[in-house]
Amino acid sequence: MEIKQSIPFNKPYLTGKESHYIYQAVLSGKISGDGIFTKRVHEFFENKYGFKKCLLTTSCTDALELAAILLDIKEGDEVIMPSYTFVSTANAFVLRGAKIVFADSYFNNPNIDVTQIEALITSKTKAIVPVHYAGVACDMDSILALAKKYDLFVVEDAAQAIDSYYQGKPLGSLGHLAAFSFHETKNIISGEGGMLVINDERFIKRAEIIREKGTNRSAFFRGEVDKYGWVDVGSSFLPSDIIAAFLFAQLENIDEIQAKRKVLWNRYHKNLESLQVQGKIKFPEIPSYAESNAHIACIICNHVEERQRLIQSLKEAGVMAVFHYLSLHTSNYYLNRHDGRTLPYTDYFSDCLLRLPLYFELTEEDVDYICSIIHKFYNNN
Ligand SMILES: *Cc1c(COP(=O)(O)O)cnc(C)c1O
Repeated sequence: MEIKQSIPFNKPYLTGKESHYIYQAVLSGKISGDGIFTKRVHEFFENKYGFKKCLLTTSCTDALELAAILLDIKEGDEVIMPSYTFVSTANAFVLRGAKIVFADSYFNNPNIDVTQIEALITSKTKAIVPVHYAGVACDMDSILALAKKYDLFVVEDAAQAIDSYYQGKPLGSLGHLAAFSFHETKNIISGEGGMLVINDERFIKRAEIIREKGTNRSAFFRGEVDKYGWVDVGSSFLPSDIIAAFLFAQLENIDEIQAKRKVLWNRYHKNLESLQVQGKIKFPEIPSYAESNAHIACIICNHVEERQRLIQSLKEAGVMAVFHYLSLHTSNYYLNRHDGRTLPYTDYFSDCLLRLPLYFELTEEDVDYICSIIHKFYNNN
């Protein structure tokens, strides 16, 4: 009889330095936003990935909301994005009155199918929001070419895409704006947390103002103005330096974290490849332009009922595997607002995609065990 295991879907990893840096932040006497650790985090990202300007936010959701305000998204504007994504990608623009025009996924990869975008562009379209699902790059050259042709903004939802690349270029560096997440389910975490990246210089000044409640406090602290006041709309989007201190400890270990995740991700693929060859499961296609960050290890089952049985078999073996997004175009909130187009591949990934445990402290033996359950399932079915 097999030993009963208990493998959660995710386990937040602590590098060990988090509480030390939090203590340092507290000792510094300034624990509100934009303290010493926030500056260190901004510099880290600007130096390592060449992002023009980084601004920590309290979540990726907030970064997307800041982006929507920054782009002056208004009632009646249209924003194109995939339906297979997290609620916040759409909600941030809906809050400003935009209509979301959902595009389908590719047949072999949950990312937005760029061949469909041009037909969805109208005179009201303001922005395209590609989502790099699982840290796998969207076809950014095509998206940027369309944006240029029709004078649209591109906001990368890079929530899952830290340290991922498109043709060697870091994701988050390609759109006018990009939003990252440090939620505890992502590769690099701070509990809750996010970041807006501004690659188009025109937006830097105003982004700082919107993030600071509509005031020019950032310019004041740099000595550029002699008093600060209310100059624009805004909200409170900046996190406490305590959050940044936690995050900095994680970032110091990013190379180690990424290396381990890639080992585990590759092991899943190697172990399960024979099932793919036999046509029993599929892996999402990783396009040749994409170098992923091993954010998600997933397989694609044949139908929703098979996936449910596999989840159950894994659960009985002590392994927590989970499905992912419910299509936004058929959600309770958006169904009546959607234009009625069917998005079959979005529904397909909604029904068939299954995420397997993947976190720093997972072992290669754990992966072998999980894969053995999946093999057993498909050999008996
Ligand atoms: C996690 C995630 C978000 C939201 O991030 P938060 O930091 O939790 O607000 C948005 N979009 C995508 C694609 C995500 O995976």
